[in-house]
Amino acid sequence: MERVIMLADCESFYASVEKAAFPEYRGRPLVVAGDPARRSGIILAACPIAKRFGIATAETLGEALGKCPELVVVRPRMQTYIDVSLLITEIFESFTDLVEPFSIDEQFLDVTGSLIYFGTAEEIARKIQTKVKLYTGVWVRVGISSTKVLAKMATDIWAKKSEEGIFALPKTELSHSLWLQPVSKMFGVGSKMTAHFRRIGLYTIGDVAMCPLAELKQKMRTVMGRNSDIQAELYWQTANGIDPSPVTPSTHDRQQAVGHQMTLPRDYANAEEINVILLELSEEVCRRCRAKGYMGYVVSVGARGANFDRPTGFHHQIKVADPTNITTEVFAIVCKLFYKYWDGLPVRRIGVELSDLRPDTEYQLVLFGNREKIKKLEKVTDQIKNQYGGTAILRASSLLYAGQAVERSVKIGGHYK
Ligand SMILES: [Mg+2]
Repeated sequence: MERVIMLADCESFYASVEKAAFPEYRGRPLVVAGDPARRSGIILAACPIAKRFGIATAETLGEALGKCPELVVVRPRMQTYIDVSLLITEIFESFTDLVEPFSIDEQFLDVTGSLIYFGTAEEIARKIQTKVKLYTGVWVRVGISSTKVLAKMATDIWAKKSEEGIFALPKTELSHSLWLQPVSKMFGVGSKMTAHFRRIGLYTIGDVAMCPLAELKQKMRTVMGRNSDIQAELYWQTANGIDPSPVTPSTHDRQQAVGHQMTLPRDYANAEEINVILLELSEEVCRRCRAKGYMGYVVSVGARGANFDRPTGFHHQIKVADPTNITTEVFAIVCKLFYKYWDGLPVRRIGVELSDLRPDTEYQLVLFGNREKIKKLEKVTDQIKNQYGGTAILRASSLLYAGQAVERSVKIGGHYK
């Protein structure tokens, strides 16, 4: 049986939450900016009125104020956005138990089994819109199809632009809907990939869909190298709306913490040696968090002296503004903490822990421009380690991260909860 899947997207999510919280801003252009005190702060969200001034996400506050001097500027309250996002999940769960958060402001719903209770897919979408608006003040747009990837494109290409905010994209009608769209509109295709497709003569999503897979692989190899077969297959499936992945509800029984400790073979007393261990521990903890799909708000570090009877050990923790599972970030925090409390005496046992965990899907990673790139890099190293063992990527490459860590540590705490 054909599934009925929705992707529900919150319009201008952070900005909508703020406007609902502060009715006095109604009718005024409002943005949420990373650092409202500085013109170099980045716009994280703009309300529809602000967007009419040409203000866009990711530009600087200075640029935005240039376009609209009367702009209302609000600092982000991440915990509130997460709470509202979880409330919206609960509202969705009143229509189906199959709800999967995709990001902080986008969630998949499988409503196949709900149709007999709540009406057609469009009727359910309208009920969802009404209920979410009533409870949170947020306007939700809904794309409907039979796979997740098609529902996502139904939202991004059509529902977001329509007055009604609802768009159904039946899989049987792709040839005169999705396939007419430029390839740049396909899910997962950025400007670089668009250029690649153009170079091999593929301009529309239909061009990719109708190209025989073997030929597509061949063509993509000419512009992207020998290892592009998997990507070719993925794009071909996306263009054809093939996506068997189920809508998987996030589990509520969350793990509390991920930690790792090491008893050293001998006493370590100089920072150079200790740094290597701190990095290894940070890497191990972050790798396990990433594998389980968690990010943590609290970073802890502990150490015990060489003489186990001597009470010189310490255990300290710090809560960061943005949850993380990124090795470079955690390592920077761990170093800061460790050297703040270390008395300089030899240590024999060191531990690192990430706690106050959240599913990493809950978090929208627009806060740091560079973060997505680093996350991808770490995903790749994780894959190599999973496949070839933990030492496949040597510590030397990790130490390259360390160079960045110092620079990045400055940014942690630059945002507010
Ligand atoms: Mg959105």
